Amino acid sequence: MKRSGLLMVLVVAVALVLTGLRFFLFAKKEVAHYTSKPYQRDEMKYFLEIAPENGKVIIKWNKDIKVQILPGASPKDSAHVKAIIQELIPILGKIKISLVPANGNLTVNFVKSEEEYKKMANGIFDEGSPKGYAQPDFNKFRTRIESVAIVISPLAMGVVRGEVIRHEFGHALGFWEHSKSFYNEPNLMGRKSFKDIESAMKWRDSPHFTRLDKGALAILYNDNMPVAISHAELMKGIDTTK
Ligand SMILES: [Zn+2]
Repeated sequence: MKRSGLLMVLVVAVALVLTGLRFFLFAKKEVAHYTSKPYQRDEMKYFLEIAPENGKVIIKWNKDIKVQILPGASPKDSAHVKAIIQELIPILGKIKISLVPANGNLTVNFVKSEEEYKKMANGIFDEGSPKGYAQPDFNKFRTRIESVAIVISPLAMGVVRGEVIRHEFGHALGFWEHSKSFYNEPNLMGRKSFKDIESAMKWRDSPHFTRLDKGALAILYNDNMPVAISHAELMKGIDTTK
């Protein structure tokens, strides 16, 4: 073989190796693009069910969250909200969450009378009358959350009250849907089963988020997860096969 022929073979071989290497690096990068740490498969499944609005777009906070409890809350309700904030601090990463006395962008209103609640909720619900709701205000382009008003009904009573508060916080943080899947463990946005009534009561009343909810929040507030992203784009950037 002539020298130029040999050189040609060498150039082609190097080019092939580089192409392969690039493909390998790219494929590897894309797998974990929006999640820098590994998540359980069920956490990712749960996240995909509850986070994208209408199954399409991720809309989350990209500024610090200032939680304001509106006047009239009972000491127990206030303590519950404070406990929720404490638990959320390490999960939300760069987004700081704190309790403020005024000018909050996430207000929590524990309404005293049923009549007042009905008046406030009027026109918000097509059917049924939930025990609480979270009314978000998005920016003009619906790419991020500007503020949220959580309103809790006086009919959310007993141990259910705690669960309603945390459920509404789930919505307020960017879980726009409910999961229709059945999970064998507690979770705030989907169906669940308990081994007995005592464990159900205990969980409902506790101020803690569950493994599934914490996992989904950690995925949502991962630094790599863009503020606004379509479901289709999202699916390209995550690996659901693991
Ligand atoms: Zn809900």
